[in-house]
Amino acid sequence: MCMTEFYEPEIRDLFTKATYLSDDDKILVERAFHFAKKAHIGQTRNNGEPYFNHVFATASNLAELRMDADTISAGMLHDTIEDCEVTYDQLQKEFNDDVAFLVESVTKLSKLKYQGVERHVESLRKFFVAAAQDLRVVIIKLADRLHNISTLEHVRLEKRERIALETIELHARLADRLGIGRLKGELEDFAFPHAFPAGYAEVKKILKTRKQDDEAHVEKMFRSLKRKLADEKIVNTIEYRTKHLYSLYLKLKRYDMDINKIYDLIALRVIVKNVDDCYKVLGLMHRVWRPIPGRIKDYIAVPKPNGYQSLHTTIFTGDGSTVEVQIRTQEMHDEAELGVASHLNYKEIGKNKSPIIKRSLAWTQQLLEWQKNVSEPSEFMERLKKDFMEQRVFIMTPKGEVVDLPLGASPIDFAYAIHSDIGSHTTGAKVNGKLVSLSIELKNGDIVEIETKIKGSPSRKWLEYVKTADARRHIQHYFEDKKNV
Ligand code: MN
Repeated sequence: MCMTEFYEPEIRDLFTKATYLSDDDKILVERAFHFAKKAHIGQTRNNGEPYFNHVFATASNLAELRMDADTISAGMLHDTIEDCEVTYDQLQKEFNDDVAFLVESVTKLSKLKYQGVERHVESLRKFFVAAAQDLRVVIIKLADRLHNISTLEHVRLEKRERIALETIELHARLADRLGIGRLKGELEDFAFPHAFPAGYAEVKKILKTRKQDDEAHVEKMFRSLKRKLADEKIVNTIEYRTKHLYSLYLKLKRYDMDINKIYDLIALRVIVKNVDDCYKVLGLMHRVWRPIPGRIKDYIAVPKPNGYQSLHTTIFTGDGSTVEVQIRTQEMHDEAELGVASHLNYKEIGKNKSPIIKRSLAWTQQLLEWQKNVSEPSEFMERLKKDFMEQRVFIMTPKGEVVDLPLGASPIDFAYAIHSDIGSHTTGAKVNGKLVSLSIELKNGDIVEIETKIKGSPSRKWLEYVKTADARRHIQHYFEDKKNV
């Protein structure tokens, strides 16, 4: 007889989301389930429902992110040390070292002494320390926040805006930096109506004018494409998604709130077995539907600097509207939706060569080092927003190495990011092969070559346009040292 028949309905539901778990994994998760249920007995949330529902939802979110059994179990147990007087030793004995470590780390993360700006800074620092130790701690915290923000209407009104803004500015940014696109979108969309009620209402109104029509067209195309792919015997999943509301809001703001300038409101996604099939589907589509020139993008041959891969094309549906189509393999899809989370399952994080893992680990290390040098909370926040939480551009060296910089960064920022010695001896820069002024703003994907001379030295002018705290610090030091000689 199949073991799953013994499980309670709730846990059976969780296991259908985590089909990758082994039988041993399932035994561990099930033990965490019963342990947490017993530990939280009698406790309720703001809306009166059992507290256990919250920790179970957190664990389910982690299963949807395909996290390993230790992480799902820790999600189930994440509030037991805090709220139930359970100890680290107890968890270590009942479960294992990893589970106990993860629960303890999540608990430390949420214990905050301060209020206001200090509190925010404190929580960020703790995030960086945790992330550098084990990225799974951060992912548990994000899964926890996802459930809390999805039930925000039960929280007192005056607290909602602060929590919603924090979710957009901190948690969604972290999810984004870890490449977990799905989680970022969900966090933002739950927070959006509470953080920006007027903007939310406006987007809803604008959408009404377009969405129904578009959906009808896409639905028609969707069915016809499905038939064609079946005829060609290409194994596939086709789905379509409506753009996340908050990201649509940001895009509309860049385009004068004109919905007709947004091409990817609804995107059709075709997921196929291998790269050959990606191109086959693209050709097939272009034979049937006319593509819009200039909107065909081959991110498989030339991935986006953040590693994203797909073929994109925008086609005329034949009844007056256009649809963006994204064609990719299952691995490319997982990477785009799950990022770091798609690699954390099998404890090989240290050996993992995936670009997103390498970037995330480098980033958290950098944050950890960096935060040690900043003590004043307001300075910390300001620099953090500039250097780490703002939109990023990815710039390449002529050898193809990617350097991650804040939006608006100059060749000087790039030079210092490579090495302080290169920065301080910069005399010129070439962007995509052309000589440029050192004050220009670099754009995503630019290839930058720095020219240095031994006698080259920093200029005071650089301080007017550098964006990174690191470059600024080196330049200021140079002039202070000079004064003291
Ligand atoms: Mn919680």
